[in-house]
Amino acid sequence: MGQSLNEEQKSYLRNRLLCKRTSLRDLSADMALPGQSVNLQLADREISRQKEINDAILRLDTNTYGMCQECDAFIPFKRLQALPETRFCIDCEKSFEVENRLQTSGPDTSFLRGMRSYENKGY
Ligand SMILES: [Zn+2]
Repeated sequence: MGQSLNEEQKSYLRNRLLCKRTSLRDLSADMALPGQSVNLQLADREISRQKEINDAILRLDTNTYGMCQECDAFIPFKRLQALPETRFCIDCEKSFEVENRLQTSGPDTSFLRGMRSYENKGY
């Protein structure tokens, strides 16, 4: 079982997210250099990661950060340290991975599922 984050932990995680966002920005600037062929798939992934990080910072601002958006459990600080932009607890994330593996093809839908539960809560 986890518990809600204290201010110190929140500011630590906010810094982690801001650092990650900065390094992603640099990466996409590199990819946009003229004369280089842009790996679109990689660029797409970087854009969605940037969005994940921006959303996480927004959740910190609105005090909804650190809770699983699927089951409302508190996400342990250790997991947030390793993956500060995560929206889900480890149990829910594992169950998504199993579902995705069962689907024979198609894009990763766990992100969309997260968006839906986000909307359902009226944020
Ligand atoms: Zn969960």
